Parts: sequence; structure tokens; C-alpha cells
Amino acid sequence: MTGSSRGLGRAMALSLARAGFGVAVHYGRNQADAEQVAGEIRALGVPAQVFGADLSDPANAGTLVEAVIREMGRLDVLVNNAGITRDTLAIRMKDDDWNAVLDTNLTSAFTASRAAIKHMMRARSGRIINIASVVGLMGNPGQANYVASKAGLIGLTKALAKEYGARGITVNAVAPGFISSDMTGALPEDVQQAYLSGIPLGRFGDPEDVAALVTFLASGAAGYITGQVIGVDGGLYPH
Ligand code: NAP
Repeated sequence: MTGSSRGLGRAMALSLARAGFGVAVHYGRNQADAEQVAGEIRALGVPAQVFGADLSDPANAGTLVEAVIREMGRLDVLVNNAGITRDTLAIRMKDDDWNAVLDTNLTSAFTASRAAIKHMMRARSGRIINIASVVGLMGNPGQANYVASKAGLIGLTKALAKEYGARGITVNAVAPGFISSDMTGALPEDVQQAYLSGIPLGRFGDPEDVAALVTFLASGAAGYITGQVIGVDGGLYPH
């Protein structure tokens, strides 16, 4: 579960734990937050271990997955959740802004998935859940790098679903809309209001709204669902 120290990832980690999944709680910079999440999971009587890895370097994602398998003995579900934004208009976007977002959000999800699939193929079962975004489907000004990374994640999801379905591995993408978190809280007030006006359900989502879907996709009940992109966006972008 990458990026489970805060925000959506934290809610997903706790929801998966409540469903009985042991959780590898991963952080980039906030080890103390990750330790706190792991403590809450252990208090539920469920195993949790903390792993740090900087996913701005995609090589670290593969090493992270191998460490989780080595330390925890198995990997049934990989959730590629860690993500960043570096928003600006395309004409002002530096190569570094582009590369940092693509490396963290997309390439690290690929290298983590590649390492996980090798293990899951041996087990002849597994679940990969990629946290994309509604903007990967509908586009968004000022986010060319982020939108491209999320659209790429959706393509990766579909390709891997076709490649590894016969091995018992399902691969799905979740496309959250506007969910309350540090990432969206940093957006200017007028941008937040513009989003709100386009949401039929009339509210921003909670991390728990996304966590509920992730937990379902990780469960045995979702065994015949693969290659899908499922929105959790209050109706912002039906597709
Ligand atoms: P957030 O609150 O900013 O949390 C981001 C998480 O990713 C943190 O756990 C962070 O770990 C980790 N992370 C970031 N950069 C990293 C790096 N270089 N190496 C390792 N870990 C790193 O974000 P969020 O809102 O929960 O978003 C989670 C995911 O949902 C992202 O992929 C985002 O694109 C997607 N999403 C969010 C929304 C929304 O409305 N919030 C909507 C659509 C999609 P540390 O804090 O430990 O560094």
C-alpha cells in the first residue's frame, strides 16, 4: 500500500485492516505518521509493518515490493497510491516538474507492479489496484504532468489486466474525484468552489469513500472484475 502515511492511503490501509488484511504501511518522508497508522492497525489485532522508500526514484518501488515480500512473507494485494502534483501551465512547466510527477505517479507504479506480478504469478493469484484520478479521464488545465501520469496509469491497468488475467491476477484502477485531503486542501479556494459546482452529489468526497471501493476490489467478492476504471467522484464525470 504505497503512500499510506497520510490522506487517502491512510484511510485505505485502515479499511483494509478492518477487513482483515495485514498491511505494509509505506511512507516517503513521514515515518512518524506511518508508525501511527501501523499502531492503529495493530490495535485491531492485524499485522502491520512500516516501510520507507522514496518513490521519486522508480528503482526504489521494485526494491520496496521485494522488501515487503521478504519481511511479511506474502503480497496478495498491491495498491499503487503514492502520488504528487506539481501544477502549472504547460508552457511554464519545467522538465523537472514533468519528470518528477511521471516518475512518482506512473513509473514507480509500473516498477512496483512488475515486482509484485512476479510473486503473484507464482501464487497464481493477486490484486493490483492503481489509484488514478478523474482528471486522467477528463483532463484538467494546469496539470498536464499529473493528468498524463493518471491517464498512463489507466492504460497500464488495462494492459496488465490483459497480460496477467490468465494467471489469476486482477488489475483495476480507481478514479477519485475531489476528495478532502492535504493534496486538495492546498488548492486555491476558487478552484475548490469550481469543482464543487460540478459535483451532482454536492459535496467533496471523504477518503473513506475511496477506501471502501479499494477494500471491495481487494476482496474475494471482486474476483471477476479486472481491467476496469471505477470512479468515486460524486457524479463529476460519468464515463
Ligand atoms: P497526500 O495526502 O498528498 O498523500 C500522498 C501520499 O503519497 C503520502 O503518503 C506520501 O508519503 C506519499 N508520497 C508522495 N510522494 C512520495 C515519494 N516521492 N515517495 C514515497 N511516497 C510518496 O495525497 P492524497 O490526496 O491522499 O492522494 C493519494 C492518491 O490519490 C494520489 O495518487 C493522488 O493522485 C490520488 N488522488 C487524490 C485525489 C484527492 O482529491 N485527494 C483525487 C484523485 C486522485 P509521505 O507523506 O510519507 O512522504
